[in-house]
Amino acid sequence: MSLTAPRTDVVRRAEGARVFDSAVLPPAGHFVDGAFRDAPDADRLDVVDPTSEEVITRVAQGTAADVDVAVAAAQRARAPWARLTPKERSELLHAVADRIAQHRDVLVMLESANTGKPVSVARDDVDGTIDTFRFMAGALRATTSLAAGDYAKDHLSVILREPLGVVGVVTPWNYPLLMAAWKLAPILAAGNTVVIKPSEQTPLTTLKFAELVADLLPAGVLNVVTGLGPVVGEALAAHPDIDMIALTGSVGSGRAVARAAAESLKRVHLELGGKAPVVVFEDADLDLAATSLRAASFYNSGQECGAACRVLVHESVADAFVERLVAQVRELVVGEPAAGEDVEVGPLVSRAHYDRVLGHLEQAVVEGARVAVGGGAAEGTGFFVEPTVLVDVPATAACTVEEIFGPVVTVETFADEDEAVERANGVRLGLSASVWTNDARRSHAVAARLDAGTVWVNSHLVLANEVPWGGFKGSGYGRDLSIYALDDYSRTKHVMHNHGR
Ligand code: NAD
Repeated sequence: MSLTAPRTDVVRRAEGARVFDSAVLPPAGHFVDGAFRDAPDADRLDVVDPTSEEVITRVAQGTAADVDVAVAAAQRARAPWARLTPKERSELLHAVADRIAQHRDVLVMLESANTGKPVSVARDDVDGTIDTFRFMAGALRATTSLAAGDYAKDHLSVILREPLGVVGVVTPWNYPLLMAAWKLAPILAAGNTVVIKPSEQTPLTTLKFAELVADLLPAGVLNVVTGLGPVVGEALAAHPDIDMIALTGSVGSGRAVARAAAESLKRVHLELGGKAPVVVFEDADLDLAATSLRAASFYNSGQECGAACRVLVHESVADAFVERLVAQVRELVVGEPAAGEDVEVGPLVSRAHYDRVLGHLEQAVVEGARVAVGGGAAEGTGFFVEPTVLVDVPATAACTVEEIFGPVVTVETFADEDEAVERANGVRLGLSASVWTNDARRSHAVAARLDAGTVWVNSHLVLANEVPWGGFKGSGYGRDLSIYALDDYSRTKHVMHNHGR
């Protein structure tokens, strides 16, 4: 289905170009207690290459019984892992980072084949994974707390930082390895053991990660169970022997996990959807904003929770800005990952997601939006959608409030600062936002008023391991990255000694 005749050429790989070597696939089965345990009779899930639409391999469809076995292994491993000194755990996490670095190319190939992401993006993901483990390996040795001392008469207070125990993790398909690393590194650094369920659509790099680090981590510290969210994910969330559940995913899955976790009153950590407003004032550098959005809106085909997807631009510069943005979008190179390093935008992850994004485009036009560039499917095999800019978008249209999660940017206009802030905050999601202005007062004032866990000023989608990432409102709670993530996966205990007579 296409709203307009496709105008975007998809760059295809050269005849015979190497796409994928099946020799690098991880072993079959769940990774539990330090080894892969295949269940030959288990139901299987197809793992599809979204570029060729072909099945790459099939993985085990886990059950609640598989979760029980994995949780038991994680429980057995927790005490010895928690007893390691910070230095010992740090050395193991550095070894994990080194091992990933040694196998960077294999992980890039697997990630790109399974998700359709350009090689440059898959490389960023693997490099980010390495850096996350290195950061947490360092940070865990430098944690601080309130100084021990007498805070009540004749009573010495000591604050201990302890692991929580076993943490369950559920990850999405857009950055499979990186999102796993954002959880695993701080969880393991804080002294917890873990059972992780990767997305059923993109389990390969998580399984490969387990294979690569199997001889580095003690058995049971890391366990991977593949399968469906409502089965394996909910079993983790509900499990009485899991102390915390951490999910990166959609708002609906976040609700399901929080509900399932309620009975056991376990801690919940949710990194959910985003709908990042990009507020462009009349004094902004429009060229900088447009060139920045070329990457920040279309990176990973827009399948990015922080993507710069909803532009609010001052009415006096709207035409000038849209002209610049459209010029950038027309230049984007859409193609198969194996077509070369120049490819900036690959296919969407699955047929179902492709149909969803195209449905959003159709609905947007029905609601009054105008297609400035793109607008539909690109031709040929693979789940390719044209990079799209929608203008004249009514403020209440579904495309301005719902997460589309594809290569689509909407543009609305505003008349003054108060209106810009009110409209930017007028959605249920609050993960990230950006403000574009050269006015110092405005850059502080507007950033402070925006309801988002991250606000960039004259930039968008720049992340670093030292600083936290996470949402407000419907985008969830808890923080990934930085020492704030280490805190989230730890508990503090106050021990008070009476030393008076
Ligand atoms: P999804 O919610 O469909 O799936 C995420 C994971 O949740 C998968 O492993 C899935 O199997 C599991 N799941 C599904 N239903 C479940 C249930 N009932 N109980 C337990 N687990 C369940 O999300 P997705 O489509 O894989 O990923 C895209 C979403 O993730 C987007 O909304 C995006 O914004 C969000 N995301 C957020 C961040 C962030 O840092 N905030 C990062 C990446 C992606």
